[in-house]
Amino acid sequence: MSRIAYVNGRYVPHSEASVHVEDRGFQFADGVYEVVAVYKGQLIDEAGHLDRLERSLSELQIAMPMARAALSQVLRRMVRLNLVRDGLVYFQVTRGVAPRDFPFPYAAMPTIVVTARSKTFPGRDVKPVMVITTRDQRWARRDIKTVGLLPAALAKQKAREAKAFEAWQVDDDGYVTEGASSNAWIVTKDNVIVTRQADHNILRGITRMALLEFARENGFRFEERAFTVEEAQNAREAFISSASTFVMPVWKIDEVAISNGEMGPVARTLRDAYFDAMEKLADQAKQGC
Ligand code: PMP
Repeated sequence: MSRIAYVNGRYVPHSEASVHVEDRGFQFADGVYEVVAVYKGQLIDEAGHLDRLERSLSELQIAMPMARAALSQVLRRMVRLNLVRDGLVYFQVTRGVAPRDFPFPYAAMPTIVVTARSKTFPGRDVKPVMVITTRDQRWARRDIKTVGLLPAALAKQKAREAKAFEAWQVDDDGYVTEGASSNAWIVTKDNVIVTRQADHNILRGITRMALLEFARENGFRFEERAFTVEEAQNAREAFISSASTFVMPVWKIDEVAISNGEMGPVARTLRDAYFDAMEKLADQAKQGC
C-alpha cells in the first residue's frame, strides 16, 4: 500500500508530496499544526484539536484554509486512504507562499498539509518510562502550537542520548513547564494530582483537558499549579500526557527513581479512563450513532 498525503486540495502519493521553497512555514516556521490519535479508525478528541488549531491560527492572524467541516472530512478521508486503524493524523497550516520578507504578505493563501500513518499504541498495561530535565529554551507563547519545534527537537535528542523517553523542560525559576511533546503531571504524597496551569507558558494539551475531566469524575483531588523538579522527584507518582501517549507513567526523573518501576494507581485509573472513552467512541461508530 502506498501512502497518500494531502496538500492544498490534492491527494497525492506521499513520496511526491511537496510545498514551495518560499513557503513561510519552511522559511519562518510561520505555521501551526495538530496531531490527532486514531484508535480503531476513530479520530480521538477531534473537536478539541480543531478548536486548538483555530485558536493557534487566530493568534497568528492566519486564516483557516478551509471550513472546519471540510477539514474534518479530509482528516477522515486520509485515515481511510492510508488504511489507518490505529495511528496518527498530522495536519499543518502555514501562512502560505510569498517572496521572503519578514512582515506578513498582503496576499497569500494558507498552505495545508495532512499526513496519516499507522502506529501500534501500547495497550492499557504499559511500562513506566524515564524522563530527564532540561532548560526550557522556547519563546513566550508556548500556548500556540507552532511548527517552530527546534527547542523540542533538541530536548528530545538529549532525552534519546540519555536513553530517556521524554525531556521535561524547566523554567528559569526551577519549575517544570511541560515535556518536549507532552504535558507533565505528578501525584503528591497526599494524593493530589498536580499539573501546571494552562497559561502562555505551556501548550493547553487536549489530552490534559480530558484527564482533568476524568480526574473530576473519579473524585480525585487536583491542582493546576507549577511544581519543581525536586517536588516531582519526591512525588508518589508522575506521568505525562499527549495525543500519542495518552497517559504514560514515569518512574525515574533525572536518575531519581520515584517508584519501583510499576505504574501507579492514579496513572492506571486515568489511562484506563482514556481507553474506556476511546472504546466507547469506537463502539458508537460501529453502531452508526
Ligand atoms: N505540550 C507540548 C509541547 C506538546 O507538543 C504536546 C503534544 N502536542 C503536548 C503538550 C500534549 O498535547 P496534546 O495532549 O494535545 O497532544
